[in-house]
Amino acid sequence: MRQENVVKEKRRLGNLKKYFYPARVVNLCFVIVVVCSTILTWREVIVLEGAYVASQRSMLENVSNALDRHMQVGVDRLLFFRNGMQSALQTPLTLDVMRNVQNGFEQQRRLPQWDIKLDNRRTLPLYGVSEFFVDQSELLNRDHPLLHNELTAAMELGYLFRLSANGGMLPRRAYYVSRAGFFVATYPLENNQQIIPTYYHLLMRPWFTGQSEHENRSRTVRWFTDQADGGKSDKGFVIASVPLDYEDYWFGVLAMSFPVEAIAQQLKDAQEGQNKGEYQLYNSQFQLLTLAPGVSHTEPVFNAEQHARLAQGMAQDTRGGLRFGTRYVSWQKLRHFDGFMLRIQTLREGLQGDFGSISVALALLWVLFTAMLLFAWAVIRRMVNNMYSMQNTLQWQAWYDPLTRLCNRGALFERAKILTEEARVSQQPFAVIQIDLDHFKNVNDRYGHQAGDLVLSHAAGLISSTISSEDVAGRVGGEEFCVLLPGSTLEQAVRVAERIRARIRGKEILVHKHTTIRISASLGVSGALESGSYDFETLQSIADSRLYRAKNSGRNQVCSEDAAPKPKK
Ligand code: GH3
Ligand code: MG
Ligand code: MG
Repeated sequence: MRQENVVKEKRRLGNLKKYFYPARVVNLCFVIVVVCSTILTWREVIVLEGAYVASQRSMLENVSNALDRHMQVGVDRLLFFRNGMQSALQTPLTLDVMRNVQNGFEQQRRLPQWDIKLDNRRTLPLYGVSEFFVDQSELLNRDHPLLHNELTAAMELGYLFRLSANGGMLPRRAYYVSRAGFFVATYPLENNQQIIPTYYHLLMRPWFTGQSEHENRSRTVRWFTDQADGGKSDKGFVIASVPLDYEDYWFGVLAMSFPVEAIAQQLKDAQEGQNKGEYQLYNSQFQLLTLAPGVSHTEPVFNAEQHARLAQGMAQDTRGGLRFGTRYVSWQKLRHFDGFMLRIQTLREGLQGDFGSISVALALLWVLFTAMLLFAWAVIRRMVNNMYSMQNTLQWQAWYDPLTRLCNRGALFERAKILTEEARVSQQPFAVIQIDLDHFKNVNDRYGHQAGDLVLSHAAGLISSTISSEDVAGRVGGEEFCVLLPGSTLEQAVRVAERIRARIRGKEILVHKHTTIRISASLGVSGALESGSYDFETLQSIADSRLYRAKNSGRNQVCSEDAAPKPKK
């Protein structure tokens, strides 16, 4: 049983060896190293990418915050003006000068256009339209109880407006447009003929109509984009407006306009000292308001698909980033403006920055490492292949006879031990054939040693081509051979031996240019079942003694029986 396990273990090791060709192992090792180094590099790339995204985000945040602060100042001022007007509505100043305003209004309210100017150096004029004009529009109404208070509040606002404008505290223009048919603006009209068209123009502005109770339910500051400002066309504005309400009544709208050009300048200033990239300001309808630095795009900045992805990203998050081909786009919603900022950096711009140089160095390092690894792999593969074939040659030489290419004596004995053991365990038949060439010495003597060698290799070829693939043939002496036949009974082995004998005898061997010879062989056969032993040496010695019987009986024959014992006298 123990022997059986040993045989199985040997077979298993043999199978394992098949998979562990040294070249395969070398390939596998190098593949593992390349994969590991690539994974490591990839990890670095991911970390680097994260840092890049964070840096883009922080740059965008800086610029957005600067713009946000700027917008916030405007919004705060607008709310300050509204609060001022609300207190004036609640507690109007009871000064004579204010009464003059109310008197002036009462005298002129029915005129097509009118103005009330107090002191042009301290306050701003009120410009108004007629009762008839007001009646034409459903949005307008002059018949409310606090009309006089509103007029004096507007006059006070005019004072604040002038003060702020002189102090450079207004981004550009500020207005109060009343639903009672008058307005205050931080810029003077050239003549009174402009009052009606200007008032009409202001009424039509989205920043005015968008502040009705219906349109702006939260009654907070709203942002608008407008191409025109105060009747004069210009490069474009963003306008913050807030409704003036008091005691649940909507009086009018306070507005402040920011020229887009000034915002662009702001972006440019905020961008100073940053890595290359482009900033773009969009309103909430995704309309490009301005960009910095002032490069103008001949093509649309984003195609339809990119546009949709950006819009989706922005709907989900107030800030984020997306990669579009070679561009990285990060966005951030502004807190004090109804829109968002984009920062766009192209691959080329990115490569010029710190992250670019680190990435290039990393890529070069990986390429260098991989190239070196490939080179080392080629050298080692070659060395291993050479060593492997050398080892194979040595191994072959250790097991085989170079002249006949059959197993040598040692190898045959090794194989015989294993095969007899297997046969013994499974109680299968096993047979041995011993072969000796007849008068071989004569061949050497007559035709020379070389001819003898030739005859030997021919005879070996004939033997190995006659036996089956399970059988094993070996050269066990000068011109002696042995064949192991696992699974063959004595009868079957005798038939094989007979075939060998016949083929050796039948073959004409060319030993010299014009000389062919025929040789013969004597064979002895033994079988394990018949002799009752699985011991190879016993089987071989039985076959050997039968071989000598064959020799003595005239050679060129097969003998498978022992001599009958001599009868006792
Ligand atoms: P027998 O029929 O009795 O076997 O006669 P034989 O001549 O074959 O017997 P013997 O054993 O006396 O001779 C064997 C010869 O085989 C002796 C030796 O010269 C020759 N021999 C042994 N090995 C080699 C070899 O490798 N090459 C050559 N050419 N001859 C060899
Ligand atoms: Mg011999
Ligand atoms: Mg011989």
